[in-house]
Amino acid sequence: MKEKLPKFTATLIFGLGIFFFLVWLGSVYFLVTQLGQSISFWAIFWQYGLSVLLLVLVSATAVYAMLHRDLLRPIQQLAEKMAHLVNSQYSGQLNQPVEVTTGLEQMLHYFIELKKMAKRDSPTGLNNRAAFEERLDHAVRDSKRSGRKYALLLVEVDGIESISKQHGQYMVDALLKQVAERLNEGLRASDNVSQFEKNLFALLLEVQDQDQLVGLVEKIYLRTARRYRVLGRRMNISIMVGVSLYPLQAIEAKQLFEYAGSALREAQNTNCPIVFYESGTKTDISGFTLVQHLRQALDNDEFKLVFQPVIELHGHNTAYFEALLRWKDPQMHDVSIERTIQIAEKNQLIQPLTNWIVMTVCKLLKKQELNDLVIGVNLSMIDLHDRYLPRRIDKCLRKYGVNPGKLMIEITEGQIMQEPDEVADILSHLGMMGLSLSIDDFGTGQASLTYLKKLPVEKLKIDQSFIMDMPKNDDDRLIVKATIDLAHTLDLQVIAEGVENVEIYDMLTEMNCDYAQGYYISRPLEADQITNWYQQLGRH
Ligand code: C2E
Ligand code: MG
Ligand code: MG
Repeated sequence: MKEKLPKFTATLIFGLGIFFFLVWLGSVYFLVTQLGQSISFWAIFWQYGLSVLLLVLVSATAVYAMLHRDLLRPIQQLAEKMAHLVNSQYSGQLNQPVEVTTGLEQMLHYFIELKKMAKRDSPTGLNNRAAFEERLDHAVRDSKRSGRKYALLLVEVDGIESISKQHGQYMVDALLKQVAERLNEGLRASDNVSQFEKNLFALLLEVQDQDQLVGLVEKIYLRTARRYRVLGRRMNISIMVGVSLYPLQAIEAKQLFEYAGSALREAQNTNCPIVFYESGTKTDISGFTLVQHLRQALDNDEFKLVFQPVIELHGHNTAYFEALLRWKDPQMHDVSIERTIQIAEKNQLIQPLTNWIVMTVCKLLKKQELNDLVIGVNLSMIDLHDRYLPRRIDKCLRKYGVNPGKLMIEITEGQIMQEPDEVADILSHLGMMGLSLSIDDFGTGQASLTYLKKLPVEKLKIDQSFIMDMPKNDDDRLIVKATIDLAHTLDLQVIAEGVENVEIYDMLTEMNCDYAQGYYISRPLEADQITNWYQQLGRH
């Protein structure tokens, strides 16, 4: 290590030595003249001054040695350690050598960097808890002056441990990075996202009112809970959200945290993905309101079905229409159907809902009297655990005199793989009744085609995420092509969903895909538009 006296320090020590010497000399001269003795200046200088000058120089050297060894070296070492710390965090971005002369200056620079780093969390690059708390305190102070309202969201990502065990930490880091990006998406500059723990994020949002908040939280949830594609793999994670409000519920930051935390615990305990804290009791406001609306809608016929055509890619006939649930009430249009189904599943409302859907479809099939018309119905996971379901469907078909071949059942690949044996029993039962079965969202679960072939399945619907990405993504194109070819060798027909443009449509035709569904062909239609569809585009 190169040790040299900093110029500034040396000059300072020397200057101080001269200064003290002159002060001393002046005071001796002053005392002597005040006492009235006439002693010559030079006599005093030779008698005392020279020895004092030497004394000052010796002490200056001692002070320098002390400073250099005990103060400068630790400063230099500290600066080097800080440089090392900063460099290792930034993988070598700041690797200038540390010189003693610039140590203090660099230390200041590194202090600033470290302070920034102390607020950030790698590898997501989001701020950490300390920074978030600072921001929250600021928001609370601001709210007291401006009356602005804030919501605190604690977002927990579930299943990280099993992903880490299966695929390693690298995969987890890449996944969390994407989660962080999605949480950040579409937020305003005034909003804030931070990472508290590996799988726990916090969001501070400025909100206008509770209604706007419910929609906002819902959107964040749906965006974040959507499937991920991490390092070439598709992944599903589950997300839990606990929400509290400032100043409506809490009057200080600590309380706001406490409430959001208890809402999050409630979400974990009840398996309900979004829970809003409500003063005193912790209830799921959105879920609670949704359940009420859902019950009301079932009682008062406030749901409707829309129908999206699935067409043959080669013959251009309409293979079937997929029935999709919708709220009639425009106020509920912001609530996604997936969330509605989720809430129905958790509140024992899926059975009446599925009954209503099957009945509505049977009524329509009876009324339309269109020979070609086949309607597909989506079943939920809970339906597939209900061993009375085949019997109820059978009863309904008989009641309306509908041929079972007119009803197609769609179940997702993920649903099948959750309880393969139990689900296989019900599907076999439905197959024996003469219903057609199709696997929805294929490619997102873990099912192998050979396993699916053992079930009475005739169609596979490749998940829209693969289809939509095909024009930009070679891997997806290859996956789709390989799936089509393999499915064909197993005598399964393939549907592509999410066909949004002509480019995708042409690619699928070339790949010899059997059917297509998507906005390019048609958006979901109202029931009374079905006849029209056949009249105008029946031989599409
Ligand atoms: P799904 O069964 O995979 O339905 C396809 C979803 O993709 C529908 O959304 C449809 O409107 C949408 N879609 C169709 N073509 C395109 C396209 O080209 N681009 C894009 N971006 N989207 C397209 P929807 O109606 O919101 O339904 C979402 C999910 O909710 C459905 O996924 C299904 O899992 C569930 N769902 C809908 N209706 C019912 C129902 O009656 N019962 C049950 N159990 N689940 C339902
Ligand atoms: Mg479907
Ligand atoms: Mg689908």
